[in-house]
Amino acid sequence: MSTNLLHIVKQITARYGEAVLADPARLKAFFGDLAKDEPKPLRLAFGRCIEEGAYNALKTAPDAAERAERKAAIAQRLRDEHGLDPALCAEALDVLEAAMYGTAPAAIIPAKKHILRNVLIAAALLLIIAAGLLMARPYLQPVWMRYSGKPGAKVILARCSKTRQTFGIRIEERGGDWVRTMAFPVDGRKAEAEGFDTETISGSMNAVDEYPGCPHCGSKGFAKHSCGKLSCTGSEIENNDGDFEMTCPWCGELSIYTFVSEFEVSGGSDSLGGSSFADN
Ligand SMILES: [Zn+2]
Ligand SMILES: [Zn+2]
Repeated sequence: MSTNLLHIVKQITARYGEAVLADPARLKAFFGDLAKDEPKPLRLAFGRCIEEGAYNALKTAPDAAERAERKAAIAQRLRDEHGLDPALCAEALDVLEAAMYGTAPAAIIPAKKHILRNVLIAAALLLIIAAGLLMARPYLQPVWMRYSGKPGAKVILARCSKTRQTFGIRIEERGGDWVRTMAFPVDGRKAEAEGFDTETISGSMNAVDEYPGCPHCGSKGFAKHSCGKLSCTGSEIENNDGDFEMTCPWCGELSIYTFVSEFEVSGGSDSLGGSSFADN
């Protein structure tokens, strides 16, 4: 059945009322504009059915079975009296009935299924995207948030004094002191792009027993240069005066480092103070 013709007929009845289907002259006028692209034979057959009083015949039929009989009779009459193709008339009458009663013709059901299928596909895609975002969430966080893990913990950025590679150190507040609990390699450029916590923290920065050491050289030591940057102590040497010398892996300056019992650090490590280190 022509869903296009049905669409046109429905447009016309929606605009001018169903009575237009009992008025061949008016229908013909509306058809002229709207149904230009419809195959002419079907259009003509539809017009003939209307002229034949098909609308009233279907409207007064008590049920669908009676409508089917009346449609067959009209098609028969049009063939006998006007020589019209019965298949074409049957199609035109199906369109008319569908326009009046919303009978779901076979051609429309798949279209509805398509809509349902597309809605289901869209819902499934949304679910997949939501699940993906949920799973990716830990990786969308800045690295210092991801590794600090729990409240009262922070990540500070350091460099290996031997390899100059960056790494993150997780510090935690324990017993009123801030201590180092974990270290892990960090992509330096990524870390700089993300930015680290800038809150300044004061504490001994002692390493707890399970602190794994610098991920690049294994040193468990911790140093802060006068330029404010943090590093491991993997490359420190004791000079002839018994002082500890080391080249800062950030600014490249060779300095003497002294022991301190308290460090001031922040994610950006821009706090004041001389070069200092802790040996544990
Ligand atoms: Zn190191
Ligand atoms: Zn430095």
